[in-house]
Amino acid sequence: MSAYLGDAALLYLQELIDWDTYFNWRKGEASDVDVDRAALQEVLETAARICQEQEPALRAGWHECAQLEGDEVVYPRHIQETIDKLRDAGLISFGVEEEYDGFGLPSFVANVILQMVSRADAGLMTILGLQAGVAEDIQQFGSEELKRAYLPRFASGEVMGAMDLTEPQAGSDLGAIQTRATKEDGRYFLDGDKIFITNGGCEIHLVLARDDETYDQSKGTTKGLSLYLSPRTMPSGEKNGISVTRLEDKLGIHGSPTAAIHFDHAEGFLVGKQGEGFKAMLALMNNARLGVAAQGVGIAEAALNVALQYARDRVQFGQPIAEQPLMKDRLAKMTLELEGSRALLYRACALVDQNHAIGKVLARANEEANELSKAEQVEIETLYERNDTRIRLLTPLAKYMGTEAADSISRDAIQIHGGLGFMAEAEVGKLHSDAIITTIYEGTSEIQVSFALKEIGRGALTVVFEGLEQELKTFEDPKLKEQADKVLEGMNLILGAAGALLADFSYALMSAQSLAEVVASVIAGAELLKQAKTDPRRFDLAASWISRRMVDLESRCKRIKEGSADRLDRASAIIALND
Ligand SMILES: Cc1cc2nc3c(=O)[nH]c(=O)nc-3n(C[C@H](O)[C@H](O)[C@H](O)COP(=O)(O)OP(=O)(O)OC[C@H]3O[C@@H](n4cnc5c(N)ncnc54)[C@H](O)[C@@H]3O)c2cc1C
Repeated sequence: MSAYLGDAALLYLQELIDWDTYFNWRKGEASDVDVDRAALQEVLETAARICQEQEPALRAGWHECAQLEGDEVVYPRHIQETIDKLRDAGLISFGVEEEYDGFGLPSFVANVILQMVSRADAGLMTILGLQAGVAEDIQQFGSEELKRAYLPRFASGEVMGAMDLTEPQAGSDLGAIQTRATKEDGRYFLDGDKIFITNGGCEIHLVLARDDETYDQSKGTTKGLSLYLSPRTMPSGEKNGISVTRLEDKLGIHGSPTAAIHFDHAEGFLVGKQGEGFKAMLALMNNARLGVAAQGVGIAEAALNVALQYARDRVQFGQPIAEQPLMKDRLAKMTLELEGSRALLYRACALVDQNHAIGKVLARANEEANELSKAEQVEIETLYERNDTRIRLLTPLAKYMGTEAADSISRDAIQIHGGLGFMAEAEVGKLHSDAIITTIYEGTSEIQVSFALKEIGRGALTVVFEGLEQELKTFEDPKLKEQADKVLEGMNLILGAAGALLADFSYALMSAQSLAEVVASVIAGAELLKQAKTDPRRFDLAASWISRRMVDLESRCKRIKEGSADRLDRASAIIALND
């Protein structure tokens, strides 16, 4: 077993995820859970082996950038070599279903692979993450014709995909998109410019563009946007009007090409319904947000490993620095941040998978009418709705926590290296440079906590906390129960504070980060306790997370509750001191 896979992922694979129900719902009578689960483990072990083997070359080639040669984007050699190895192992596009020649890997497995790829090279992860996300969006929203034409080519790695949203004036605010889609004789043509497009030299672009017919009325909103699949080469073999005009020079993820793209009357095929492109793109973005959370967890894991090794080897004052209490505390805190974020991510993935499987069983029930009784169908549909609410809250929280953890853990890893950490060639410096972007793309941290707040405003806390309460009340072991009671207490404090917040929207937005932190604290606390119940070696981890986080939660809730709209005015007054 490769150490790259890690104990936590194995724990979920072998014990914590209910694969019996997952495969029964997903495949019905065709499922053989032992065989299916063994296949997932084999996939993960293969990915772990490739990532571990490639890590030294990837880290050594970190400075090398993708190049624009004529009209083609060329990856650095170490990136191309690893892509080839993953492609040869069939691991180039994760969620494409079997009927389109893919493996249909669950979200949990796909995200553990992305985490391992990111641990080896965060730049490479972006290429694979988008390959998976774009294919799955086509699978979810595309016509059968588009799916048959493109998904097998995604699964084999013959084509790669990019997601084209951002424009110079449209970053976080996608309502400002100006790229225009014009309908001519039943065909669609795209004109405009996109920037910061990851893997922009690839064959398939999923483009969000504003429909010409409603261009003026819909300006400034996400209405009137449609999603188009635009290939660089048309099915006839002709070149489409898509060109890479520039590759960016960046602080990190150098192996990942970030391109400016010009669409000159490029033909696009509508994906999903006209005017509902933002909804279809949100599905991709939510998927991609879990992917970026996994990217953060992978970078954090890499930084922690390097820091731990260094702290054990470096001797000062006659002993390894890892033995100095302050260093020990820092290393423990880094481990907690990593494991707390991972717990949120894996929980979110398990919910996504459960809902995917429910979707399959409901589809079969509609076709065959005898797989589920009426009562079972109603029960499953209710679970689907509740899971959907949970996923909508957990996805931005997992993205926020995983990426902020990558940023702070990799920064701490530099500190642990002392002066060596500041040298240009330091591994931890490279990891920190890669970590920063994870808090920015796929929606910045500020956007994630605002999304979480929005879901809380819609009542998500009630649904999420109801489930948590049930779980926390099942702990019988006195040690676990004591910790579970602390989390329950924390949940009550949050409910009290959130009520006070939601009365004033501007004030609520100002406190969105605090609210996200405390909600993430209790969800991750419950999840870590679940891990500890199955693997008692993880008890100290769970207890330490809970004791540190509940102290922080109390003070944050107190501040949220006591605070007033004056805080916004006061912030303006403080900033004005710089004028
Ligand atoms: C390396 C890289 C790869 C990328 N890959 C892709 C890609 O493949 N496809 C794609 O379409 N885009 C991509 N992007 C674009 C990326 O998604 C955007 O950069 C990101 O969404 C932020 O937009 P912006 O840069 O315009 O920042 P802005 O939206 O201008 O934000 C600037 C700052 O203001 C804050 N802010 C903005 N609005 C609010 C608000 N309402 N509340 C609180 N704070 C706010 C932000 O959090 C941020 O701190 C990539 C970017 C980079 C750098």
